[in-house]
Order: sequence, then structure tokens, then C-alpha cells
Amino acid sequence: MIDLLSKTDNIRIDLLQNKLLDESKISVSMLRLDLIDPVISGNKIFKLSYFLDEAKNSFHKLIITFGGAYSNHLAATAFACRKAGIKSIGFVRAEKPKELSHTLLYCLENGMQLEFISRELYKNINEEKFHGELIKKYGDHTLIPEGGFSQKGADGAKLICNYFNAENYSHICCAIGSATTIAGLIKGSDSEAKIIGFPVLKNLNDVEEKLELLGIESSKVSSIIYEYHFGGYAKRNNNLISYMNSFYMDNKIPLDFVYTGKMMFGVYDLVEKKYFPEGSNILCTHTGGLQGNKSLPEGMLNF
Ligand SMILES: *Cc1c(COP(=O)(O)O)cnc(C)c1O
Repeated sequence: MIDLLSKTDNIRIDLLQNKLLDESKISVSMLRLDLIDPVISGNKIFKLSYFLDEAKNSFHKLIITFGGAYSNHLAATAFACRKAGIKSIGFVRAEKPKELSHTLLYCLENGMQLEFISRELYKNINEEKFHGELIKKYGDHTLIPEGGFSQKGADGAKLICNYFNAENYSHICCAIGSATTIAGLIKGSDSEAKIIGFPVLKNLNDVEEKLELLGIESSKVSSIIYEYHFGGYAKRNNNLISYMNSFYMDNKIPLDFVYTGKMMFGVYDLVEKKYFPEGSNILCTHTGGLQGNKSLPEGMLNF
């Protein structure tokens, strides 16, 4: 595998501490993919890995991909491409702002060429015609769909399963954006463990269909829990922020407010509601994304 994944040595599993968990006789552990790097969040680097291999071994050595102004995927792609000696172009879903977000500045620092396109045009990014225009303009390249959503992205995410033994757990939890990561977890953990996904977008009600597009039969999907999006993508409220602060006090583990904070809030809430049977042994994947917290007002988080 590509050498920039070498910091995967840092990955470990932590047992979470909390009174509620003790009282409920439920064990919750966390797979610390965030420890790979604070910026290139854990799951992103896995989803990218086969695309990077392909681009690195190609003649063109160019990756083109897409994302929003705070996209963890764009940041990870820029970083990984620089490390691997691949040129990267990121299409950003926005008019060019006067002041670039910290994420986009990071992308520029890592040598990514940014192209801003309107939300209207952005709707066409998965169409043949749009891809044809990209080839005309930039020549041959490796195209990564938004969020890595593809068979290749899911196969990359499947590599996450090398870092835990699914047979040790009753449930495996994961935040859902494009559903590529959970697809990899389902493909890779051949055990009785139930795989539970927490969508972080409000109108993401087609996760099952998305998984089918990635070759996952719906019978393999244990549960998608739609109640913890907090109003939509990157939306938040005080409950979420104070939960993240108390989680940090208990465990000294930082969560991000877009993905892992919402998943963990959901897991604890479900424990409280007795969703999980006593004796459950739950593994939650910390998929990283911590760079996103930089968009919060200073002092809001205690870490
Ligand atoms: C992108 C991201 C996810 C969602 O992954 P998908 O494969 O798009 O479902 C989860 N957690 C974090 C921290 C992310 O950055």
C-alpha cells in the first residue's frame, strides 16, 4: 500500500469511560483512525488509497476531485497527492469567496489547484458530458467522485477492517456522508456484528440504494439511524457541543462536530434508550475530520 499510510501504526482501539456505559453494562470502544493525522482524517486516506495507487502508476499523474469549502475529502486528497508526487485539481462547490476557508487554504498550501464552480454546474459533475470536458481541458487523469463514492473507494475503505477483529464486537458504528466508508466496513467485516450507520445529512434517505450501487445487498445492512443529523450537514446545537466537551473530559478524545460528534451522541442516546442489549460490545469508528472544528468560534470546544 502507498507509503503515506505508514502512520497507520498509530491506529489503536480505546475503551471509552462513562458512568452511563458502566451502569448499562455496555462496553463501547473507539477505533482511533483520527490518530493517523489531525488533517488527513482517517477514513479519507483509506478511501483514496486505490485511486492514489492508480494515479501514481499512471503516465498522467493527475487527480481531479470535488468537494465543498470545508471538505475533509479535498484536504486529504491535496495532502496525499503532494506526498505521492501527483498533481491535484479540486473543484469547489462555491463562487470564489473573498476569503478562502481554512480548508481551502490548506489545499492550496498542499499544491492543489482550485477551480470554483456554481452550485448549478456542480449538479452535473457525475455526467459523461462534464467528464468529457475535463479530459479536453486537462487531458487524461484519475477522477475521484465526490466523497470517493465508487467501488474503488469502498474497496479502499474495506482496508479499515484490517485494524480490528469484527468477531470481538456485537455492533460496529460509523458516521455516514456518501456511504462509501460504511460500504467498506460491510464488505470487510465478515461476522455476526451488526453494522450501524448514522447519516449526518438531513435528507439522506437513500442510503440503502447508495449501498446497492456499491454492490451491497440490502440484507447485509443492519441498521441506518436517521435521527441524529442535528438539522443537516454541518448544523449543530449546544447539546451537541456540550456532549463533545464532556466526551473529551471523560476520554481525552476529540470528536469533530460534523460526523463523529453526531455518531457518538447517537450511540450514547441509544444506550440510554436501551436500544442495545445488556452485554453489547460496541465498536465506534473515529473517522477523523478534526480539521473541520477550525470553523467553530474559538473557545467553544475545550480541546
Ligand atoms: C467523510 C467523513 C465521513 C463519511 O464518510 P463517507 O464515506 O462519505 O460516508 C465520516 N467521518 C468523517 C470524519 C468524514 O470526514
